[in-house]
Amino acid sequence: MNPNFLQTPIDYLKGVGPNRADLLRSELGIHTYQDLLHLFPNRYLDRTRYYTIKELVRNNAEVQIKGKITSLKMIEGKGRRLVATFQDDEAIMELVWFRGHKWIKESIKLNTVYVVFGKTNYYNGKFSMPHPEMELLSEHESKLRSTMQPVYPSTEKLSNKGITNKVVNQLMQTLFVEAKNDLFESLSKPIIEELKLMPKREAIFNIHFPQSQGDLARAQYRLKFEELFYIQLQLARKNQHHKSKIKGYPFTKVGPLFNEFYNNHLPFELTGAQKRVLKEIRYDMGANAQMNRLLQGDVGSGKTIVALMSMLIALDNGFQACLMAPTAILAVQHYQGLIELCNKLNISISLLQGSTKASDRKIIHEQLENGELDILIGTHALLEDKVKFKNLGLAVIDEQHRFGVKQRSKLWHKNEFPPHVLVMTATPIPRTLAMTVYGDLDVSVIDELPPGRKAIKTVHRYDANRLKVFGFIRDEIKLGRQVYIVYPLIQESEAMDYKDLMDGYESISREFPLPDYQISIVHGKMKPADKDYEMQRFVNGETQIMVATTVIEVGVNVPNASVMIIESAERFGLSQLHQLRGRVGRGAEQSYCILMTSFKLSSDSKVRLETMTRTNDGFEIAEVDLKLRGPGDIMGTQQSGVLNLKIADIIRDNDILKIARSYAWGIIKEDPTFAKAENKIIHFVYAQMMKFKNIWSFIS
Ligand code: ADP
Ligand code: MG
Repeated sequence: MNPNFLQTPIDYLKGVGPNRADLLRSELGIHTYQDLLHLFPNRYLDRTRYYTIKELVRNNAEVQIKGKITSLKMIEGKGRRLVATFQDDEAIMELVWFRGHKWIKESIKLNTVYVVFGKTNYYNGKFSMPHPEMELLSEHESKLRSTMQPVYPSTEKLSNKGITNKVVNQLMQTLFVEAKNDLFESLSKPIIEELKLMPKREAIFNIHFPQSQGDLARAQYRLKFEELFYIQLQLARKNQHHKSKIKGYPFTKVGPLFNEFYNNHLPFELTGAQKRVLKEIRYDMGANAQMNRLLQGDVGSGKTIVALMSMLIALDNGFQACLMAPTAILAVQHYQGLIELCNKLNISISLLQGSTKASDRKIIHEQLENGELDILIGTHALLEDKVKFKNLGLAVIDEQHRFGVKQRSKLWHKNEFPPHVLVMTATPIPRTLAMTVYGDLDVSVIDELPPGRKAIKTVHRYDANRLKVFGFIRDEIKLGRQVYIVYPLIQESEAMDYKDLMDGYESISREFPLPDYQISIVHGKMKPADKDYEMQRFVNGETQIMVATTVIEVGVNVPNASVMIIESAERFGLSQLHQLRGRVGRGAEQSYCILMTSFKLSSDSKVRLETMTRTNDGFEIAEVDLKLRGPGDIMGTQQSGVLNLKIADIIRDNDILKIARSYAWGIIKEDPTFAKAENKIIHFVYAQMMKFKNIWSFIS
């Protein structure tokens, strides 16, 4: 037994010459025996069934037939071809070759039973099968191959150069016979026993040569588990490393500010979820490591108060805190909200944004550096080099998807130790993805809305019904409510979108004329100051209608707004629709979301609209979104490796993922140094994986 045998270059395998080796490398990334063994089939053809020629029907499926070739003839001229008459006990058909005539003529045995396999054509009352895969029956039955025939990933170039599925199959067979003694177990005994997993060697055998549907299923389960397990192990390791290596300021006390606020100034009872999340944050910041926590909570779930109370803990421990928001509007709103909440507390809070005057900036910079300022709220402006904290202890980042990792880490370099970081997002990351992509972050979830909220009613209306919708708006405004009307803004066609918005604004102005109605308009082409002014009028209730592009998407809080109209809703993605809807339903009144579309809808649009009208649950919506778009389009997935999975699928195999996760995290928790004898094997595999940077380049 040679431990390096599987690392043998693919060139050395019987049946692989230098040309084929080059093709395998360039087309499929197969460099070694190991790589080839882990080329997993995309699908399997069921070859359990033999058809008779009489049974053939005109369809596109591949069929398998037993029969004899009784004669062969060349047909010359255009479409020159070799035609064989093929017959079973009852009927006759043709086998046809347009290429490779010489080889076929030489190798075919007449009047001997073959098994042919392929798609059939029907022409002039006769079935024919072009370029069949064929084998003598005797050979077929003796093969190390099952009735479930694997179909391997391939490329056009490979099949053009004659590396057909059959060839790959043959190579696999040669290799398996040579390598089977070198296929070592790669999971620990307890895991295999508890989960009754198929042993490694058997799994590799059955994935390539399944003996039955049942064996194949068990082989797939085992290999998927293994793949997901080692990814999770990597994440758990990273998380643990972070906790043990990256020191943070331990906030040991919950002091006077927190208690004063909690006992005397809390404007409402915290929800159970808010309390639980606060406890998680307190515990995390109290430990000896830097907190790196994601706080997920649907729109309106009350993340702000959690952020504030976390910041008060930082202050109680003698540190400063900051809160960074993605837009000026939001930063201002946070600032005003926090000032109000804290007006009885003796703390200083400032706002820093792009438009802050130089003279004010100077004061802020000074107060930050000498520690007079306790909390700084702002936009990206917080990341400017001039902004230096005396001792930043906690950075809260609202709506994390708007900030890149680089920007986040910029805050870290402001002081000696990195501050604790709390990232808040209202875009629920599907649980599935949170487990894989963000698996190394700690996650807190507020999964409960403050009491008394009425579920938002969502309906879909066609543009043709616009007049009715206007009537509804009028009724709501009569009741004293406010209304958002949102237009899509998609970069590529900005000019057109802008025109849509302006046309819409005009028709709404006509429909809702002054002086009875006041309308705000906010869009990306406006100066920030004008935007803020218009926004502020709406926040203050001076205008009843807000016509806007998606700049209002994030975070804005106007509890009196009860209607959200989304124009051209078919052009928005699910998460954006859900975000926009979250602007309403923040007060005690019944709120509505109306999705306006034309009649022309793609099937994906239909699913999105159906999902929105069916549920308000952000997590459920996020899962649908993930299914529609696949993980590739979702932030953060590119770097995570979830897209490079060879056999598992994080959506379809979510159940396996959960089990793999719990095992991996359990091991890291109980035996972080892999000291137990039973975990040695896992340690070995893990080390190899880190070395080769590829899960399957070592698992064996
Ligand atoms: P988001 O999670 O979207 O940032 P906010 O923090 O803006 O939500 O809270 C939404 C609204 O709910 C605010 O008006 C806030 O004052 C209110 N709120 C938050 N928590 C509670 C609670 N426990 N009980 C009642 N109202 C609450
Ligand atoms: Mg918020």
